[in-house]
Amino acid sequence: MGDLSSHFRIFVKPGAKCHNPALRPTQLANIARTQTHVHTEGNHNIDEIGNISAGSGIWYNQDDARNTCLKIKTDINSDQLGELVAILWAITEEPPQNELTIITKSTYALDGILNKLKKWESTGYIGVQNRDIFRSIVAALRHRSGTTCFKKNTDNDGEAGHTAAKSLALQGATKEAFDEPNLNIHPNFNLTGAQLVSMTQSLAYKGICEMKLPRDRRGTTQMLAITRHAVKALTGNFPDDQQVWRSTRHQDFSKMFCTFLWKSLHNTHKIGNYWDNIENYSHRGLCTKCRVTENLEHILLECDIPGQRVVWKNVKELWLKKHENWPEPINIGTITGCGLIEVKSREGTVLKGESHAYRILISESAHLIWKLRCTRIYSDKPDDEWPENPEIQN
Ligand SMILES: [Zn+2]
Repeated sequence: MGDLSSHFRIFVKPGAKCHNPALRPTQLANIARTQTHVHTEGNHNIDEIGNISAGSGIWYNQDDARNTCLKIKTDINSDQLGELVAILWAITEEPPQNELTIITKSTYALDGILNKLKKWESTGYIGVQNRDIFRSIVAALRHRSGTTCFKKNTDNDGEAGHTAAKSLALQGATKEAFDEPNLNIHPNFNLTGAQLVSMTQSLAYKGICEMKLPRDRRGTTQMLAITRHAVKALTGNFPDDQQVWRSTRHQDFSKMFCTFLWKSLHNTHKIGNYWDNIENYSHRGLCTKCRVTENLEHILLECDIPGQRVVWKNVKELWLKKHENWPEPINIGTITGCGLIEVKSREGTVLKGESHAYRILISESAHLIWKLRCTRIYSDKPDDEWPENPEIQN
């Protein structure tokens, strides 16, 4: 309820208006109410080509026909989506008059549902991950007439249920076909938009950004995939897209390199195919020496113009003075993903100092090659007048 000012909302969905009051279904006096206990857990799996799927496990009892596992599409390396979908499933599958107890170990889900929802509703869920599922969960809870309890699974009694639900969740994540959780919200309970009184300027700005239609991101998708696969080849682990984005602001990188990296992942440097559809300029897409498409990988790792090879040769020599072997950059993904690469000892422990040195060497060398190339393009000196041994900072 609240005072009158709390009813003015912005960012509302025009179609979500409803004139019926949001009333819970009436609780009949003489209806039999069952007590249901259910364990819900999430999991996730990454297949050999890097696709990530989330899994949900919903476990009632040994050999219970209601035990379920679900598989959901995602691009995030996390169990959280699976956990939330499991909870939503448990709520929507339960007859509304029953007393339901949901038992989980997920602090994320419990904290979201029990503590943060109130704030999120007043601020329109702006910036909240998995907000569609949280919205559906809260609407499904309000649509119940029986009580719903959430229990944090911490004691030994719940261990069997936890293990069973967790393994169902893994089974879900690895099964063949995807499930599509029903996120439809009953129109009576569909509260959209944010309270005007709860808005700040920065929240409003975020809200506007979230409303914008996504741009054509083909180039970005491609760069992210190349980066994820390069990191997997060098470390054995597939990062997700968010981890790649986060790594672009690694503290080992200079501000200039961060900007360069951000543009590289968005594929917005004015090179190569950028010039294809620009009349009279299509020749600019080719490398002046090698006569092939001048994309970032060509510039930084392949080009015959003196520069890139010399830089990498010097870096390698520098590295080998202190270390046994130099991990050669395999493709552009090694550079765009170098914030996620860690150098490990033979026993597998992360070597902090070495990792730090590696990231600085890779980022600064790549950026130096890029700067040399840009200076060359915008001046008219012939290739052979270019420094044979560009200096590299240690
Ligand atoms: Zn070239």
